[in-house]
Amino acid sequence: MADTTTLSGNRGLAIEEPLIFELGHPGRLGVDLPEPPPVDEDRLKGCRRQAPVGLPDLSEPQVVRHYTRLSQKNYGIDTGFYPLGSCTMKHNPRLAEKVARLPGLADLHPFQPQSTVQGALEVIDSLAGWLKSLTGMPAVAMTPAAGAHGEWCGLMAIRACHEDHGQGHRRRVLVPESAHGTNPASAAMCGFTVDSIPAKDNGRVDLDALRAKLGDDVACLMLTNPNTCGLFEREILEIAEAVHAAGAFFYCDGANYNAIVGRVRIADLGIDAMHINLHKTFATPHGGGGPGAGPTVLSSALAPYAPLPFVVHGDKGLTLVEHAADSGAKPFGRVKGYHGQFGVFIRALAYIISMGADGLRLASSDAVLNANYLLAGLKDVLSPSFEGPCMHECLFDDRFLKDTGVSTLDFAKALIDEGYHPMTMYFPLVVHGALLMEPTESESRETLDQYIAVVRGLAERAKAGAAESFKAAPRFTPRRRLDETLAARTPVLRWKPEAAE
Ligand SMILES: *Cc1c(COP(=O)(O)O)cnc(C)c1O
Repeated sequence: MADTTTLSGNRGLAIEEPLIFELGHPGRLGVDLPEPPPVDEDRLKGCRRQAPVGLPDLSEPQVVRHYTRLSQKNYGIDTGFYPLGSCTMKHNPRLAEKVARLPGLADLHPFQPQSTVQGALEVIDSLAGWLKSLTGMPAVAMTPAAGAHGEWCGLMAIRACHEDHGQGHRRRVLVPESAHGTNPASAAMCGFTVDSIPAKDNGRVDLDALRAKLGDDVACLMLTNPNTCGLFEREILEIAEAVHAAGAFFYCDGANYNAIVGRVRIADLGIDAMHINLHKTFATPHGGGGPGAGPTVLSSALAPYAPLPFVVHGDKGLTLVEHAADSGAKPFGRVKGYHGQFGVFIRALAYIISMGADGLRLASSDAVLNANYLLAGLKDVLSPSFEGPCMHECLFDDRFLKDTGVSTLDFAKALIDEGYHPMTMYFPLVVHGALLMEPTESESRETLDQYIAVVRGLAERAKAGAAESFKAAPRFTPRRRLDETLAARTPVLRWKPEAAE
């Protein structure tokens, strides 16, 4: 194998970047400030700092290089193909970015008088209008800051509604075993107990098992549709009927809404609450934890419990209702400071308006088409977990790697050397060694063909007995295999100066 070490630690033009504190040199300055005038009186009354403040001292070019290099280490959808499954990586049109940077929107302050931010309230209100018409749902809580937060918001509304109707004993939440980890976590945070429902061999919820779990202590079902195996839950109407007959609500995890926008009206499926990950469906660059927004659409039964604040139309234009007493409803509280993720709202609204209803429908169709194109191009060399076509993502398991000595993890690491962000690995948990691939709908056919050729090549190499080279991957990254357990258990989050003598 070629030696990949260099004297400097750099590789080609990919330059090692120390922490900014390690780059600093005491006394070096990037600005030229006038000497402060002398003060006779110690206005700090003896509270003056005793030790240096500990900020790095750098020249301007050093600072510019540092942050420019860091920005280049950021792999994103603008850099290359990003087939990460479950967490849809949307293309972020420059138009949406440009609109979000308009000073009239970007420079607002959340404490401004409402009369001076009527346009901003209109952004929130118009986006809410779009979300309601796309889903057919009568209400939407706009303030949740992410998908998981939207789940929690929907569950809080469900809890409040049950309590209001003397059904506070309903504390059990049913969650399919393929669910995203946030589902049981949100339910637990709301004080519910979580009961899991098995999947059938075709990757969908087992309706009989679900029926057997229903009872008068069940608060709701949380179901993802399309589910995390990339499959549409075909029995969703029967599922909704069974859940409602048991007096429970039907919560839908809408993180995969990108696959069905403009094609499926959520209200027609019997869903009572669903969060929409704006960052996975309507633009907004995200990853590594943010930013996002998770507005939650609600049925008329749950709408009165929606959290504060919300926008209403009044005599003086648009008004934010901030207090329960003014709301005419029974809001369960607030989920967030201020008014929601406004920067994400702007991008989502710009995206929706620029696409139009026909464009949104086309985008969800393309998302499904692209995923099926990958599935068709790979199914004879990898092992698809389920029969038939998929929705917006295609799921494989590790049967194709049997007896090769190569694991899903090794396979993903080899993909990094080839210049691709890996697919989602080991999720969902319902199949062994999962490889979940979701191509962004805006990818060209050439990009998909190139990716298919690389994955096919790697699969053939693995089967031909190249386990060694897979174990050594990634070879071309600045950092190679990390001890992820150590990093998770004992993270080093603080920089300490070298012990001063
Ligand atoms: C991404 C995702 C979530 C959580 O959304 P966040 O915005 O990351 O909190 C929940 N469920 C599914 C299926 C997801 O893909």
